[in-house]
Amino acid sequence: FNVPALRNEPVKSYAPGSPERSELKKALENARSKQVEIPQYIGSEEIFSQNKKRVSPPHDHQHTLGYFHEGNADDVKKAIDSALEARKTWALMHWEQRAAVFLKAADLIAGPYRAELNAATMLGQSKNAYQAEIDSACEIIDFLRLNVNFLTDIYKQQPVSSDGVWNRMEYRPLEGFVFAITPFNFTAIAGNLPAAPALMGNVVLWKPAFTQVYAANVIMKVFKAAGLPDGVINMILADGPVAGDIVFKHADFAGIHFTGSTKVFQTIWKEIGENIGSYKTFPRIVGETGGKDFMLAHKSANAKALATGLIRGAFEYQGQKCSAASRAYIPSNLWEEVKGYMMADLAEIKMGGVEDFGNFVNAVIDEKSFDKIASYIEGVKNNPEEAEIVAGGTVDKSKGYFIQPTIIKASKPDYITMCDEIFGPVLTVYVYDAEKFEEIIPIVDSTSPYALTGAVFAQDRYAIQYATEHLVNAAGNFYINDKPTGAVVGQQPFGGARASGTNDKAGSVLNLLRWVSPRVIKETL
Ligand code: NAP
Repeated sequence: FNVPALRNEPVKSYAPGSPERSELKKALENARSKQVEIPQYIGSEEIFSQNKKRVSPPHDHQHTLGYFHEGNADDVKKAIDSALEARKTWALMHWEQRAAVFLKAADLIAGPYRAELNAATMLGQSKNAYQAEIDSACEIIDFLRLNVNFLTDIYKQQPVSSDGVWNRMEYRPLEGFVFAITPFNFTAIAGNLPAAPALMGNVVLWKPAFTQVYAANVIMKVFKAAGLPDGVINMILADGPVAGDIVFKHADFAGIHFTGSTKVFQTIWKEIGENIGSYKTFPRIVGETGGKDFMLAHKSANAKALATGLIRGAFEYQGQKCSAASRAYIPSNLWEEVKGYMMADLAEIKMGGVEDFGNFVNAVIDEKSFDKIASYIEGVKNNPEEAEIVAGGTVDKSKGYFIQPTIIKASKPDYITMCDEIFGPVLTVYVYDAEKFEEIIPIVDSTSPYALTGAVFAQDRYAIQYATEHLVNAAGNFYINDKPTGAVVGQQPFGGARASGTNDKAGSVLNLLRWVSPRVIKETL
């Protein structure tokens, strides 16, 4: 059995004239020209219901890509039964056989399904070709392959034996089923959250976000094509609270693998707490949640590198990354220069549909998000003494949910857009006295309840050291002279603390450890 090396899948360029570009263009045309019916996948069945919901590209909301078939409470119960049935064989299967399924899935995405999955992510979530490639090709492949490497690290951990005594550790899966709930913004997360517990021998109910079912359907097709036995991962399309009401009261509920907003995770945690007496085992609670990620610059920072980091960190994928740079602290000596570079970059940026590969910014995910983001921008316009719009500020939802990349300058560090997770292409800047670096640090630390990612930009080593030490709890992923987005599986294991989650570091041994319940066996020889 070949355990995959710790190597990341290379990113394809999609340069004009490249074979991958024409293949992707063809996949986009093909997807746009037909309408798919997206079922629930429960056990061996594909379940189509009477309750159909339209799926459309966020950048072209009148176009129909297909329909998904919403499920109900009975479907959830059926999915639990299918999972528990599948557990009887899956949990006993040798790990090499389980790993083989997910390695095959990785190979299918790397090869024959790459264009289809990228096209689905581009159209369903309005992600440009480059952003789709690093998400729904490279990152998902890396999760599937490298998790097998991490699994072997875990299994190697064995207790010491002594004369006449043989001790061993058996890494059993959890007793019951795992519920994976995934957000709209990363196809890789949608694949990894059910796959990681399943690799460790668990059976899973997976509920993708309704705004992401289009790509989720392709992932499920890949898992099936890779030979995943029926019932090991069941994709249910019931509304979150409907599914939660059944799952969180079930005696065999053994763990939640969640990524999404802090508010929904808190609701889930409360529900689990209320039902804690009804489970066979204490459930594992793993949740990666919201962020309000910062970029802090010192007066010694390189203004050009800082401006590039701000533009990319704040506006790639329309700022809809949990790690997106959304509050920046710029020293007064650098502000005019940094602003100049950013304005020049913004003037080059094109916004529009994903079909034109020259568009850097596309649409935000849906009307609800659009309205929320627009209301923050409107708030600035109505509050000139506290904040001003430096760039952008226009919004248009007539064809798609388009919001121009927007930079706000706040005159106080706790202005609302410095504190709330907006989850859109909105960056707020606070300009501080360049001689008071030490005084801005506690403000960076305490302005938001989140602690997901953050970055310091400086050339002065003392400033780097000072920020790294004094912001020790402000971010689970901390970057020096780089934007706070773009964590790579195996290179920067990802997760935050405080209101940003349980920090179980997706893409590392630490996450996989949550999906096993070890048994120690002592045998006297
Ligand atoms: P969301 O609104 O919290 O939804 C996440 C998932 O929870 C969706 O599948 C949603 O289903 C489901 N859900 C909603 N209410 C539920 C309930 N009462 N019970 C059970 N499930 C429920 O988040 P989102 O808008 O999809 O994603 C954006 C959020 O995710 C942001 O806050 C972002 O920071 C966070 N995020 C964090 C990370 C990280 O690693 N820390 C990574 C990515 C995203 P429906 O779609 O059907 O409502």
